[in-house]
Amino acid sequence: MNAEIISGTETAKKLLEKKLKPRVDKLLEQKIYPKLVVILVGEHAASASYVRQKEKFAEKANIKSEIWRYPDTVNEQKILSEISRINEDKTIHGVIVQLPLPEHISVEKILKAIDPKKDVDGFTPENIGNLFLGKPCLPCCTPRGVITMLKENGENLEGKNVVVIGRSNIVGKPVAIMALNENATVKILHSKSRDLTRKMQHADIIIVAVGKPEFLHGDQIPKNCTIIDVGIHRTDEGKLVGDVHANSAMKKARKISPVPGGVGPMTVYSLIENTVTAAESQ
Ligand code: NAD
Repeated sequence: MNAEIISGTETAKKLLEKKLKPRVDKLLEQKIYPKLVVILVGEHAASASYVRQKEKFAEKANIKSEIWRYPDTVNEQKILSEISRINEDKTIHGVIVQLPLPEHISVEKILKAIDPKKDVDGFTPENIGNLFLGKPCLPCCTPRGVITMLKENGENLEGKNVVVIGRSNIVGKPVAIMALNENATVKILHSKSRDLTRKMQHADIIIVAVGKPEFLHGDQIPKNCTIIDVGIHRTDEGKLVGDVHANSAMKKARKISPVPGGVGPMTVYSLIENTVTAAESQ
């Protein structure tokens, strides 16, 4: 039998109506108008498409969003001064800098300049540190989206064996910490790990963030596990695929998140959720 699909699109839609809109309505009643600014540098086709998705979802949530565009020749100082302007502006509650940035701009410097209270991507050292400590923070969006999607689809993490494949600062490491904060037993596998199949043997949930198209196959995973596929790639034929070989994994897993329509929409949901949280706390 094929695995049950965990739909990120449906989960985000449901949460928007049930949880987010009532919070936005409360803010609007108090004449607080949540606002997100997206800094977009250069003409990166994938970035432009991600930004459009964020803009659309913000609109659905009744949140103002503005895209501030700059040519890829813009210098670092200009972006830093724009961020400091945003930090001072009380009408702006959240800011993200769409990555990647051109090579002459230091991502680290730019992210450090963002006021942690407005850091709705959850990338500043303060938010990452608080996440690590299990304290309130603006959590990074993709990992948060993964955990929310699991919980909303009946996957309580407490006591579960969770395997995370990938240890990037934006997905693998934070999602492992979040699963740990939910009382899961967590194993992180990465490019230097040996014998992945054996190490996944007792996994209840496998979160795959490897960045390689159709990397994980059904014959590597234990029967009846839940698979969350974070990867997203466009094939030469123009099809979107994840880090998981969906056809073979579907036959072995109990539940699986699809690509597209899985982690992507949940990432966008988390960004807008963070913007609402930021507006509430400011
Ligand atoms: P990354 O390249 O920064 O990290 C990949 C990780 O995979 C590394 O930590 C590496 O150790 C590990 N890895 C590489 N080869 C491996 C192997 N053979 N065995 C085990 N581990 C291996 O990638 P990332 O930024 O974490 O993103 C991962 C994927 O998720 C990408 O496909 C990216 O496009 C996608 N992504 C999607 C969203 C979304 O919103 N849907 C957001 C962020 C990233």
